[in-house]
Amino acid sequence: MTATILDGRALAKTMRAELNEEVATFKEKYGVTPTIAVVRVGEDPGSVWYSNAIKKTMAGRGMEAQLHVLPETATQEELVALVTRLNADPAVHGIMVQEPMPKGIDEAAVKAALSPDKDVDGVHEVNAGRLALAAPAGRPAGVKPFFVPATPAGGMELLRRYGIEFKGKHAVVVGRSSIVGKPMALLLLRENATVTICHSRTVDLPAVCRQADILCAAVGRPEMIRGDWIKPGAVVVDFGVNDVEGKMVGDVAYDEAAEVAAMITPVPGGTGPMTNIMLVKNVIEAARRQVAR
Ligand code: NDP
Repeated sequence: MTATILDGRALAKTMRAELNEEVATFKEKYGVTPTIAVVRVGEDPGSVWYSNAIKKTMAGRGMEAQLHVLPETATQEELVALVTRLNADPAVHGIMVQEPMPKGIDEAAVKAALSPDKDVDGVHEVNAGRLALAAPAGRPAGVKPFFVPATPAGGMELLRRYGIEFKGKHAVVVGRSSIVGKPMALLLLRENATVTICHSRTVDLPAVCRQADILCAAVGRPEMIRGDWIKPGAVVVDFGVNDVEGKMVGDVAYDEAAEVAAMITPVPGGTGPMTNIMLVKNVIEAARRQVAR
């Protein structure tokens, strides 16, 4: 079997065109430009690359991305003061504080300082809590609106747009971080999948993975998930981004997996391009909630 590629790059292109229209309509209706403030402390190369990518993606949609850079030596108080000022600024609809933050900064305290209404990265405990409390699809939500981290939201959007059925499927998520693995598991659960979450203490991980109709990898270990861990006909979603001697590879051994799976996301070009798109969607949604009340 050679798997169908879940092409995040192509879908992101389609969605960029959709979002261009959505932003234009929003601006015309409300006279407001959806705006995100990206906050960075220091010059971590990955964070610099990501903030530039966000700026480009937002500008391309007619949106605005402010970049606020504090020096590596900035204190916790200075960072929280900046976040508090942005919380109160009506021209800013979404705020993202980039990670990693330098040593000495309490990341949890910074996240807690964000206004949940502007937390477009879904890292505030109110947003994480509402996702955990939200009812399954098809039942009354039971919670106020919330934001979902962009990476798992992008993975779900990719699966949905390719018509993947979730109901009653066994989804196995490898990884339990609060930014990828855990929200992905909760999103699959909301869609009525039966979900297993695996982590570094899971016993016989290959055997658990082999049960998956939908297998999601968010581990951060290059090509750890081998072809013979995959159930024939499974759908494989690889969130992994690993640099191996200058080449980007996922958490799944792609060539082996593609021989067994029915569908698979490539790395690069799978879940990665979807992340920025979902961040754009979250910023538009934040602006809508703040402007259209
Ligand atoms: P974390 O390091 O926060 O979490 C990794 C998870 O994998 C942990 O839950 C850990 O278990 C688990 N794990 C580690 N080793 C093993 C193992 N040998 N067996 C089973 N489980 C293991 O990573 P993130 O969630 O932040 O990121 C995961 C991957 O996704 C990375 O490659 C990252 O670069 C990528 N990523 C991709 C994005 C995108 O846009 N596509 C965005 C964000 C991240 P435990 O909890 O027990 O420690």
